Amino acid sequence: VDPVSGIGRGYIHVYTGEGKGKTTAALGLALRAAGNGLKVLVIQFLKGPEWTGERIAAEKLAANLQIRPAGRGGVLAPSDITAEDRALAREALDEAGRQTVSRDWDVVVLDEINTACSLGLVDVRDVLGIMEAKPAGVEMVLTGRGAPEEVTERADLVTEMKEVKHYFKRGVTARAGIEK
Ligand code: ATP
Ligand code: MG
Repeated sequence: VDPVSGIGRGYIHVYTGEGKGKTTAALGLALRAAGNGLKVLVIQFLKGPEWTGERIAAEKLAANLQIRPAGRGGVLAPSDITAEDRALAREALDEAGRQTVSRDWDVVVLDEINTACSLGLVDVRDVLGIMEAKPAGVEMVLTGRGAPEEVTERADLVTEMKEVKHYFKRGVTARAGIEK
């Protein structure tokens, strides 16, 4: 697939809401794009360098799919935020901005950027800046709960995962292979 003509005009997706499937949907799109020969970069806000299934799998598709951690796991509430988290979020935003305009990627996934925004770790104006700077041929996906209205307004596609049931409520925490 010719990466330039592969997707034509690129659009901006937002996957938000309380139900399971936001990151999974973004990774599914990333897999599909990589399989079509497109170059995909996933920057994971709020996720540390610990292994995840998607990172191990991405190593096998490295020519087309890169997943980069950019943060620290375990930041769930504004009270968890440290100065280091702010510095990491700043770096992740700068990296996202640079990579989006670099012409190295056809698809850029900013995983948990909405969450980082709703926690107050990143400024929505910076997110809007990255969205505005997106070259026409790049597809962009922003995931995470609590996407700001300014972000969903400017997106071309917004999906809200609705929780109908989740086993998390029965005490089933993240399992390797299914949630990580
Ligand atoms: P996935 O990565 O499975 O697609 P997601 O990206 O939609 O999920 P996140 O908001 O990123 O969901 O949540 C990731 C983690 O939070 C999961 O590992 C899960 O254990 C936990 N979680 C999911 N749903 C809930 C919930 N309703 N309440 C609290 N924690 C939840
Ligand atoms: Mg997620």
